[in-house]
Amino acid sequence: MTSLVIQTAFLGDVVLTTPLLETLAGRHGPVDVVTTPAAAPLLETHPAVRRVISFDKKGRGRGLGGLFRLARTLRAERYEWAYLPHRSLRTALAAWLARVPRRVGFADGWRWLYTDVRPRPKTGHEVDRLLVLAGPALTGGAMTLTTTAEDRAATEAFLGAHGVEAPFVALAPGSIWGSKRWPYYRELGQRLAGRVGIVVVGGPEDAGLGEEVVRAVEGGGGRWRAVNGCGKLTLRQSAEAIRRAAVLVTNDSAPLHFAQAVGTPTVAIFGSTVPAFGFGPRGPRDQVVELDGLPCRPCSAHGPPSCPLGHHRCMRSLTLEDVLHAIEETGALRRRD
Ligand code: SF4
Repeated sequence: MTSLVIQTAFLGDVVLTTPLLETLAGRHGPVDVVTTPAAAPLLETHPAVRRVISFDKKGRGRGLGGLFRLARTLRAERYEWAYLPHRSLRTALAAWLARVPRRVGFADGWRWLYTDVRPRPKTGHEVDRLLVLAGPALTGGAMTLTTTAEDRAATEAFLGAHGVEAPFVALAPGSIWGSKRWPYYRELGQRLAGRVGIVVVGGPEDAGLGEEVVRAVEGGGGRWRAVNGCGKLTLRQSAEAIRRAAVLVTNDSAPLHFAQAVGTPTVAIFGSTVPAFGFGPRGPRDQVVELDGLPCRPCSAHGPPSCPLGHHRCMRSLTLEDVLHAIEETGALRRRD
């Protein structure tokens, strides 16, 4: 019996769902997953996944026609169970139209389309909240990502071609939500390049930020090299680059979850959002940098595109020294001077 999971949210949400996939796979074997074309490569190599069904909800899968096509595809598979972690009407309708007999979703979703409704915990880490779909009292799952030998070789070749050797620090300066971007990654890269190499990770949309960091490092005359992997490394190659890094410095965005999945110490910088939302790092060496006591913080669940008050104090007040101190606290750069 193959179960179905539909998770078409953001990349980070897909990584956060991997413990649920593993739990379900442990019961009845690898699961099938509907996800976005962007996230599909992350799951294609995952041992808990039998098949990835790529659904382009913003392209070919748009509208009612796309929904019915997806439902037809799913109906042909005769799944017995569908797990629906994403609070999305389209997702709930797809499972219902596909006539999957058992459809498990959260109470704050589309409960009239589910057969099994689970309460969504209000607190705790998102990984544990999602695990509630598989049953009560399941916590502590660890996110996982799997790379191939080709991914590892390509990452090594990319770093080698740009003269970046271990030890290096990975920086992830991007976020689709502008208010979640810490504005001093250039200065951080410059300071760190006196001690270690720098690899900037992110998607094609972060390429400009990555170039700024690389230019700052080159202009700063540091001993070590920097390379911009944004949009040049694939998702799995980016995960591999993060795995090889001594530490990742990131905003509250997808690379944070990548680092958790590959076991790399993480410095997570939080601005308009807070770790209590359930998306913070939780490794023993991980560090959070945030500004306590700012009355406007947090200002939205995802973080607005820009600061509604104009000053962006939640991020601008977090200094280079704060982040450097957090990096030291991870212990990742000890004995590297
Ligand atoms: S309103 Fe406050 S928390 Fe929100 S972005 Fe601005 S400074 Fe940050």
